[in-house]
Amino acid sequence: MSTAIYPGSFDPVTLGHLNIIKRAAACFDKLIVCVMINSKKQGMFTPEERVELLRRSTERFPNVEVDYSNELLADYAKERRAHVVVKGLRAVSDFEQEVQMAVINKKLNPKLETMFLASSEKYTYLSSTIVKEMARYGADLAEFVPREIVDDVNRRMGEMQGKEG
Ligand code: ADP
Repeated sequence: MSTAIYPGSFDPVTLGHLNIIKRAAACFDKLIVCVMINSKKQGMFTPEERVELLRRSTERFPNVEVDYSNELLADYAKERRAHVVVKGLRAVSDFEQEVQMAVINKKLNPKLETMFLASSEKYTYLSSTIVKEMARYGADLAEFVPREIVDDVNRRMGEMQGKEG
């Protein structure tokens, strides 16, 4: 069975992420979308919440599993018997860091290959950071995040702004 992992912060999942998930799920028997926990970054959503939002957004893909981990990706992949890491590339600016990560992961786990999917043109501008900016100004999020989670993002931004003000 071919298993691939799509790792990221997903804070929150965007339509750009979902596009990569859909295309990668068509290439492998199983795709594990894994929220990687980075304790340095204080997010908008907790890792558990991100998993829940991802699960709700990917319900229609039967071969997609959502998980989270605070391990090294190379170790997590070994445990899950996954041989491929999928990454999305938006622009040249993503390239340098992603290639560096791919080389390190291969050193740590020689069986692990990283495969890059080019972002669909429609989503090259989209990132979780942009989504948070748009939410802050009350923009319509329907073009940026899965419809299943629009209300959650707006609600959380409202709570955060309530605390700030
Ligand atoms: P972000 O940069 O939005 O915070 P993540 O750290 O969660 O995203 O990214 C996880 C993976 O998804 C990375 O490989 C990243 O390059 C890819 N990705 C993020 N946004 C897009 C997009 N709009 N199109 C294609 N790939 C994307």
